Amino acid sequence: MGGKVLIVDDSEMIRNFHSYILKSIGLEIITALDGADALEKIYGSDGELLICLTDINMPNMDGYTLIERLREDPDYEDLPIIIISTEEELQDKQRGFEAGANLYIVKPTEPDELVENIRMLLGR
Ligand SMILES: [Mg+2]
Repeated sequence: MGGKVLIVDDSEMIRNFHSYILKSIGLEIITALDGADALEKIYGSDGELLICLTDINMPNMDGYTLIERLREDPDYEDLPIIIISTEEELQDKQRGFEAGANLYIVKPTEPDELVENIRMLLGR
């Protein structure tokens, strides 16, 4: 599976873990530490993003805000976005979907489940 994935999480351990999983299916990895860093990486990099994985709780800009910002941009209104968060309350999920997320996964991430969900979202 070729293409670029953006992994947004303030935890280095999580970024490394998710990078490891997605490299194994052939994706090119871009990482960001928070929502603000993600926007810089998105608008500063050339080439199309295939998918974005984002945490919710992060300093500077949280995942909800990041998703809302991306959905305001016609170039990113259809970008597949998966929230991966420790928050497991229904209200957090609802807020995530309202912001525009396509999918919500509760940590800890199960590698096979993540890969399956990505394949499903991308139709591959
Ligand atoms: Mg976090």
